[in-house]
Amino acid sequence: MAKYTGSVCRLCRREGAKLFLKGDRCYSGKCSFNKRPVPPGQHGQGRRKMSEYGLQLREKQKMRRAYGLLENQFRTYFDKARRQKGVNTGEALLQMLETRLDNVAYRLGFGESRPQARQLVLHGHILVNGRKVNIPSYLVSPGDTISVKESSRDIEVFKSLREGPSHTVPKWLELNADALEGKILQKPERDDIDLTLSEHLVVEYYSKL
Ligand code: SF4
Repeated sequence: MAKYTGSVCRLCRREGAKLFLKGDRCYSGKCSFNKRPVPPGQHGQGRRKMSEYGLQLREKQKMRRAYGLLENQFRTYFDKARRQKGVNTGEALLQMLETRLDNVAYRLGFGESRPQARQLVLHGHILVNGRKVNIPSYLVSPGDTISVKESSRDIEVFKSLREGPSHTVPKWLELNADALEGKILQKPERDDIDLTLSEHLVVEYYSKL
């Protein structure tokens, strides 16, 4: 599946939820979803009631797009989550997605959105336990320290983080904004994930394939 290159705000409107893909704009009055919370397109407002399958598909697309993954990447996470014994598959899936390095960098405020945080990781600005890791899908663990490379600390997004993160840092992470350093305190629990997602619909979607 090809990478989506259109307007990311259309994705929020398509999925009927804010996916927070544009940084500060998402928290401002300029958010397109706040202004027009209906699906894009000529017939967006007049869509028929969705089937059960349609709801499951949309929920899967919403989760996949929120974390910025292609279908095959997302499916790989789902298969790994399903193989975990004794845990709820949907929660295991969300936990894996949350512990991706690009997401953790975003949650700590190192990027104003997940796409921006991913770019910062890809460009080698982020360290894990003092070593450069430029792999957005790298999964962090409790005890890991995430920081900004010394020579990257004058980049605008990091300078403004010192004045305070643009969004609330979840309780499973600890941020030292002055030091541009964060710590993973524990694995995220379901309540720590603020996206409006119904993971059971995603599980139902894949269980039919
Ligand atoms: Fe655009 Fe962000 Fe609003 Fe989504 S939440 S519509 S990405 S501004």
